[in-house]
Amino acid sequence: MVGIVKYNMAKISGKVVSVLAKRGPGSGGTYPGHIFTKIGGQESISKLASDLKIGSVLITGTNGKTTTTTLLIKLMSNDIQIRKSYENNILNSIATALLTQKGDMGIFEYGIRNLTYGIPDTVQKLIDPIGVVYTTISQEHTQVAGIKNPFEDYYKAKKLLSEGMQRGAIVTNADDPRTALIGLNKASDVNINYYGIEVDNVEDIGGEDIECPKCGQPLSYSKHFLNHRGVYTCQCGFKRPEPDVKLVNAEFNTDSWKLTIEGDLFNYTTSQNVKFNVVLSVPPFGFHNIYNTLASITAYATFTPKVENIESTVKEIFNNLDMSFIPPGRFEVVDIGGKYVGLGQGDNGDAIKINAMFMNQFVDGPLEFIYTTPDENEEEIFNDHFEVVKSMNPAHVIVVPGRKSIEKAKEYYEIIKKEYPDAEFYPLSYDEMGVRIEKLTELARDSDYDYVIMTGCGEEQAMWEEIKKKMINR
Ligand SMILES: [Zn+2]
Repeated sequence: MVGIVKYNMAKISGKVVSVLAKRGPGSGGTYPGHIFTKIGGQESISKLASDLKIGSVLITGTNGKTTTTTLLIKLMSNDIQIRKSYENNILNSIATALLTQKGDMGIFEYGIRNLTYGIPDTVQKLIDPIGVVYTTISQEHTQVAGIKNPFEDYYKAKKLLSEGMQRGAIVTNADDPRTALIGLNKASDVNINYYGIEVDNVEDIGGEDIECPKCGQPLSYSKHFLNHRGVYTCQCGFKRPEPDVKLVNAEFNTDSWKLTIEGDLFNYTTSQNVKFNVVLSVPPFGFHNIYNTLASITAYATFTPKVENIESTVKEIFNNLDMSFIPPGRFEVVDIGGKYVGLGQGDNGDAIKINAMFMNQFVDGPLEFIYTTPDENEEEIFNDHFEVVKSMNPAHVIVVPGRKSIEKAKEYYEIIKKEYPDAEFYPLSYDEMGVRIEKLTELARDSDYDYVIMTGCGEEQAMWEEIKKKMINR
């Protein structure tokens, strides 16, 4: 227990700092939370979190965290006042939001890379969330701060965020075997609300089969929706759970998509079952955003205290959605005078594949691939990336180091060159970010091709967002 004097002092200090501190994107930054924790100790965050009348919802996963959080914030803010934090997804940014904002519910993005640098079980204890929302779990950067990060540890860290929960609900993707298993394992402690796709016209041709997260045998898939997400079963008895919220119809047109979503689920805040059915008209935002849409709607319907609003709020938010909900640096396709350039972050195999699928909606002629490589010790990421490069059948390939090591990038380039003999290499340094951004912008803008995809590794805000701004401004 934290002494009340110490707690109040921490609270006052944190608030003073928040007035002085410059606010960062997505939240009030992290500094007030840092000061608060320094004075009051980490355990004082629990007391702060318990001020929330309804409670906190944490969003995690490999890809789609920020987008799902952004959409959930839009939905929930329509009904009630909330405290929120996204993009800066560490504990101090959650503490900052708790300290400096008002509202009965907290909606916080929380990213966990591994066990050494993340403290998921501690965060669970301190925040005592009423909800944890999982997007998807796939192989990410295989090294963190120079140390190899095995996938098992990464997966375990994601599990730990909800493992200690004794109240509330978990919202999780039924189509992803890894996130589905997290739900199945916690079904006796808390409510589990699954979301998934149940239409026939979303089918991923080159989907990835993975091993059963429960027993390690190969899963058998009857359908692939997006990479390893689909309809699967295992000999051990593990299989895809029935989604509580599902996409039941989809019509894809070039200028808009019509999505029908049905829900029948338990609302935790009011302790009652709710049903809804909505037909939404959204921008053609890519298949991965169907999952972000489902995750945010499921979380919203699970936690809103105003269940009578569900259908009207969901329609209000999604029928008025434009592409500005995409977080900075993420992949977008821009039309620069008849030339289509798809550009943005694709740090892992799952993300780059999604980018490629999104780009393919626009490609109608020879394509140039400008590929930004991973770093040393990231051969697995390179292998996943290279499969995607090849699947797009590019007419020309340009290779640029996406991370620090130019030497390693050159090695990756040599491998690519065997398949694409006229591939070019630009050894742009990470240290001279300005030069690098200028050159990458020029390569895409002055390309001889009408269709250019530029993706791979690179800093989201410092690099991709800057290039996007330059590209769009001209
Ligand atoms: Zn199994």
